[in-house]
Amino acid sequence: MNAPKKAPGILELYPEATRDAAALLKKAVPLMMRHDIPPNPVHYALWYTYSKGLEPELNRRLDKTVADFDSFPPETAAKLFRDYIIHGELEEARAGQQQVIELVDDIEGNVSRSITGSSHYQASLELGLAALQEPIIDDLPSVLSELQESTQLMQDQQTQFLYRLNAAQREIKTLRGQLERAHVAATLDNLTQVFNRNAFSRLLEQTLSAEHDGVALVMLDIDHFKQFNDQYGHPLGDRVLQHVGQLLREALPARAIAARYGGEEFCIILRDCFDSTAAHAFAEQLRLKIQSLRIKVRRTDEVLDSITASFGFALARQGDTLETLLTRADDALYQAKRDGRNQVNPNSGDTALRA
Ligand code: GH3
Ligand code: MG
Ligand code: MG
Repeated sequence: MNAPKKAPGILELYPEATRDAAALLKKAVPLMMRHDIPPNPVHYALWYTYSKGLEPELNRRLDKTVADFDSFPPETAAKLFRDYIIHGELEEARAGQQQVIELVDDIEGNVSRSITGSSHYQASLELGLAALQEPIIDDLPSVLSELQESTQLMQDQQTQFLYRLNAAQREIKTLRGQLERAHVAATLDNLTQVFNRNAFSRLLEQTLSAEHDGVALVMLDIDHFKQFNDQYGHPLGDRVLQHVGQLLREALPARAIAARYGGEEFCIILRDCFDSTAAHAFAEQLRLKIQSLRIKVRRTDEVLDSITASFGFALARQGDTLETLLTRADDALYQAKRDGRNQVNPNSGDTALRA
């Protein structure tokens, strides 16, 4: 928007040459002294104009005032000053005031859209606006400069606020990162990077509370793992678990979830799996991949190719809970162990019915 229009300079009201002005002042000062009128700019202006004699109505009112009062009341001086000295500027000044009000409205609009809304600024803005509504022209410069100061203050506060906001945003980002890491730590198994048992239980419960159709639970347990640890050491056993975890993550179909249920036991929740054949096929594929794992013993360069796992699975039925579904899959798995290991129990889906 445009800047407010400036009122004409006060000197334009006094076009006299220095000599003429000095002569007028020489007449005005004794008049002021005679009536004991304090020598301030308003009074000078009034009595100077009186001496010029171009405003007969002013002269009449000044004569009347000094006749009526012992003193020269300041409010009368201010009114006469407005009416007779600066009357030509008044409309201009009003237009200027309107523009200042619009400018301030504009600033206020921006400010309320932005962040600070500082109470100090609000207070001085209200005072400033109230003062601008008053037609007292000589207050305008000070009102404007107060508004300017308040605006500056508000800008400083806004800058500070933005600085704090940025700092807060950085902090929030850090905290979010920490929270995400904590969340991951709370849900993922550290060693294998699949979900841990707690997260798995929660996720399976959630899944079953939403639907049963198409949900299957596959369980696997690494064969003779105690023996493996005993023979090759626990750290190598850990590496096997890591490999199995990675293999599971890579083999997961859409919407499936893998978890480490216990030491060397893993679970997979399958979705969109409506029959035993599909669950069996998925488990069989995993079994083959585990059987294909080749683990190199770093110390001896020996390559181990003997890692196998046994599998059971169960399809969720209406009324199944976490426990009932787990029990059926677990029963099926141990049937596979009993049947000789390194296999998927083909009757998994029916285990509970047979039991
Ligand atoms: P099965 O074929 O019947 O499952 O025999 P298994 O030896 O695998 O079964 P068992 O339950 O007797 O032994 C499980 C072993 O898994 C014992 C334990 O040392 C090992 N184990 C469990 N957790 C970890 C682990 O985090 N790291 C390592 N390296 N071994 C683990
Ligand atoms: Mg085992
Ligand atoms: Mg076990």
